[in-house]
Amino acid sequence: MTADHQSSRHVRARAEIDLDALRANVRTLRARVAPGGARLMAVVKSDAYGHGMVPVARAARAAGADWLGTATPHEALALRAAGDEGPLMCWLWTPGDPWDAGIEAGLDMAVSAPWALAEVTAAARRTGRAARIQLKADTGLGRNGCQPADWPELVGAALAAQAAGEVLVTGLWSHFACADEPGHPSIAAQLDVFREMVAYAEKAGVEPEVRHIANSAAALTLPEAHFDLVRAGIATYGIAPSPELGTAAELGLRPVMTLSASVALVKRVPEGHGVSYGHTYHTDRETTLGLVPLGYADGIPRHASGRGPVRVGGTGPWRRVAGRVAMDQFVVDLGGDTVPPGARAVLFGPGDGGEPTVEDWAEASDTIAYEIVTRISGRVPRVYLNE
Ligand SMILES: *Cc1c(COP(=O)(O)O)cnc(C)c1O
Repeated sequence: MTADHQSSRHVRARAEIDLDALRANVRTLRARVAPGGARLMAVVKSDAYGHGMVPVARAARAAGADWLGTATPHEALALRAAGDEGPLMCWLWTPGDPWDAGIEAGLDMAVSAPWALAEVTAAARRTGRAARIQLKADTGLGRNGCQPADWPELVGAALAAQAAGEVLVTGLWSHFACADEPGHPSIAAQLDVFREMVAYAEKAGVEPEVRHIANSAAALTLPEAHFDLVRAGIATYGIAPSPELGTAAELGLRPVMTLSASVALVKRVPEGHGVSYGHTYHTDRETTLGLVPLGYADGIPRHASGRGPVRVGGTGPWRRVAGRVAMDQFVVDLGGDTVPPGARAVLFGPGDGGEPTVEDWAEASDTIAYEIVTRISGRVPRVYLNE
């Protein structure tokens, strides 16, 4: 493919990924948890929250991320295939998943239940190598993890497998339900349960390399939850975990992704003209419409119909999605202004150039910023800046 061909892929729309910003966020987060002695895991699951897993993982390691974390083993194995060699954990295992490959790849593998311990010990016997496992406690989230009542049995079975040379219990860990709502009573309750479950396991003979419970929100607001390691996902990408925690700028973070498109058509239409499917929008005077070639197949939420903000041409007020977001395109009312076809329409970016942020899109779509970035689809090319 020629260079021209390459760049023509980026004309319609692109998601620029500023790796300088990503590295700065990693350094900021690391400095934030280092005084208490904790290390930083950069969470790169779900294609690095839509930013592109392999380039992000490389940049995060270069900036000092001590660990990387993924949800599925397939994601972690893809990182190993791309050459990553550092501490790497994955936590979402399903019966039949590739435990053998995980052992060979030196992954830290989460175990929440007896079925997982049975599969991982069988894999250890097949490969002839001890598996690195991290036991997950359900301290109150009610999602994955082992209930306190079942903990003694799981810890006992893991220690027996360790004595048999099948596993090494490298970690004890858990996950918060409401860390993004500072002061929520479940936070202190989960911390108490975590301390008790860790104490039980240690008394029984587990000597973990790492104990961890903090996500981005807890990394930013709750030093007593840092333990040996924090798992930072959303903050790594320069996005605030929730509006309650402040803006990215207030948290010292720099947004990494800028999503933009080239305006494909600009035209004058009369007053009373319906716009897009269902005619949920009608022009209230003669005006100009701009066509933005991004739609719900690119991950633009259809829920943002009539609301999503866009900065067109680098000046002027934010325009709003006029009418419905379609599969491949949406329209903005330019209020009589014109821009040349090909003008840049920025949906979200760092915000300091006057453009909307991902948080603005989350609000306009009745969702969280996490969902906005992770849903940007593979049809939108990622363009890496400052590699
Ligand atoms: C996704 C995830 C994280 C990262 O959460 P953020 O809120 O993005 O920091 C941490 N731990 C687990 C278990 C996760 O699934």
